[in-house]
Amino acid sequence: MKNYSEDEVRENFKIFFEEEGLTSEIIRVAENYPDDRSIEITYGDLMDHFDVEFPEYIHENPRTCLELATEAINEILGSSYEDTSIRLRIKDLPAAHNKGVRELRADDLTKFIGVTGLVRKATEVRPRITIAVFQCMRCGAKIKQHQNIGKIEEPMECQSCGKSANKTSFKLILEDSEFTDYQTLEIQESPEDLRGGEQPQRLKGWTKEDMVGIVSPGDRIVMNGILDGTPKSGPGGSKSRTFNIFMRLNSIEVQDYEYKDVKLSEEDKTR
Ligand SMILES: [Zn+2]
Repeated sequence: MKNYSEDEVRENFKIFFEEEGLTSEIIRVAENYPDDRSIEITYGDLMDHFDVEFPEYIHENPRTCLELATEAINEILGSSYEDTSIRLRIKDLPAAHNKGVRELRADDLTKFIGVTGLVRKATEVRPRITIAVFQCMRCGAKIKQHQNIGKIEEPMECQSCGKSANKTSFKLILEDSEFTDYQTLEIQESPEDLRGGEQPQRLKGWTKEDMVGIVSPGDRIVMNGILDGTPKSGPGGSKSRTFNIFMRLNSIEVQDYEYKDVKLSEEDKTR
């Protein structure tokens, strides 16, 4: 498969947006940011423009490619819209990249795929911290710390007075920190996709920003995004070599379908 440098990926996206007439849409979204914050295309749009190689490269390397798409959008916008981070959302993946929950394999990890199922759970939408600002209790300096998944990370030391974390303490300043809306979905296989007495298998999807709050339990959806995994916990808090899988969603397609017999407990509805 052809390899693309980061510059080539960014340039490809830029040309794609410009030649497919998406520039005015990008500017419209930037004007309405953060109420609007994404541009939607189909996988077919990419195939029409590039043929198969570049779309396949995106399928294989989605995390970097999607970040570079946002950078390409920023280049189109120029310096007048510095604080936007507009996402490219890709829908309608080809059959080869659409999988059933029980078809997911090690090969699918880190790839851009679509998985169809019935929404079993949708958690409440909650803010999640992305950039935490801490104040040093010794000198009062404020320190920015980018946050990843898992527990909130405090600074190792104060950059201003140089005191390490065990010589001072850090107070989280909510007003200066940055948050994004966040929601976890869980889908299960549709009854018509099951044979005989098979129990439906489930998959979690993480959504954020403008994708939260758009689906309800019972909806049949396609979750498009990156299949990710975390090591299962082993004995004594060790990390297993076996992984739990989940998806980081890039886009959601809600299908025109309602299956009334999905059994949802009260707990599922409220969690
Ligand atoms: Zn300090």
